[in-house]
Amino acid sequence: MIDEYVLKYITDFMKLCKKCNKYDIYNNKKQCSICNDFYCSDCKTNLIDVYGFYKSKYCIECNKLIGF
Ligand SMILES: [Zn+2]
Ligand SMILES: [Zn+2]
Repeated sequence: MIDEYVLKYITDFMKLCKKCNKYDIYNNKKQCSICNDFYCSDCKTNLIDVYGFYKSKYCIECNKLIGF
């Protein structure tokens, strides 16, 4: 049985991977800066580093839309 505290911890710090539907620890380095899709450690290769005024990460889909 999962108690409420643990459940809160999980929902605050864990996020569902867009690609494989697995939970992983939330980290903004693993999230698209445009659509906020999150990718787990295994799938973070779906994020592309973009260097502009500040460093950000775009997922493959958003990167296509922007057209780099
Ligand atoms: Zn994944
Ligand atoms: Zn995106």
